[in-house]
Amino acid sequence: HRTYVVTGSASGIGRATVELLRRQGAKVIGVDLRSADVAADLSTPQGRADAVDGILIEAGRRLDAVIANAGLSVPSARTVAVNYFGAVELLEALRPALAAGRHPRAVVTSSMATLMPVHDDLVEACLAGDEDAALGIARGLEAGEAQGAIYPSSKRALSRWVRRQAPTQRWAGCGIPLNAVAPGIVDTPMVADLFATPESAAAVDEMVPMPLGGHMAAEDAARLLVWMASEENTHVCGQTIYVDGGSDAVLRGDDV
Ligand code: NAD
Repeated sequence: HRTYVVTGSASGIGRATVELLRRQGAKVIGVDLRSADVAADLSTPQGRADAVDGILIEAGRRLDAVIANAGLSVPSARTVAVNYFGAVELLEALRPALAAGRHPRAVVTSSMATLMPVHDDLVEACLAGDEDAALGIARGLEAGEAQGAIYPSSKRALSRWVRRQAPTQRWAGCGIPLNAVAPGIVDTPMVADLFATPESAAAVDEMVPMPLGGHMAAEDAARLLVWMASEENTHVCGQTIYVDGGSDAVLRGDDV
């Protein structure tokens, strides 16, 4: 059987991904703040190091796939710490174990929010690997009008990191396809507040048009993550694949 790591395993898309993989007979190491095989806080360097230690003890130093999915959408610096640095540092630290795996694969959960307005300096600070600078910029945005750019910036940076890293010697050169999956609105606890009132729900649906029948269930995103992490994905490499009921097609139009 294949051995998988799934972060954000306790809820939503991550939980659905773990369930699909376990049904296939895979060994899955779930990582989350609590209610997980490895309990760790991916918002801090120490928490990420603890997660890596716990994963390698469970896995025995060889992994077949890592699905870095844990995330937050609140407009705070912590969102940047988890969504970008939590995913990137974990993947970097687990890369040697993946390189020793069979048909190794790496996938991150990005978002259709990559298509929303971002804060360029925040995206650049992430990609420069400067967590102090990135969190400082995000803290400066937290209370202001541009707070809505924090989440899209974290995901734009993540998709761009995948784009830059995937074709290099470290990933493709080691036989590890690295990709991102970008869901539209998925019915999980993350977005529950957005749909609390008819007014806020209408505003979100206008911002995120999903012509293919509305919101998705967690399983609808999980199935693509599972495929991207499977042996069947032989040549998808460096992509952000939108699984969004058409929002990318509406918002980005011909710009492909
Ligand atoms: P969710 O809130 O149901 O699950 C997210 C999980 O991540 C939770 O179990 C949470 O505890 C975990 N997590 C958060 N901070 C963590 C930390 N510091 N350390 C460890 N684990 C942490 O949300 P979801 O909708 O399943 O989100 C999963 C991923 O999908 C996220 O990356 C999110 O940004 C992305 N996404 C969600 C939607 C959506 O509409 N729900 C759309 C696009 C992308």
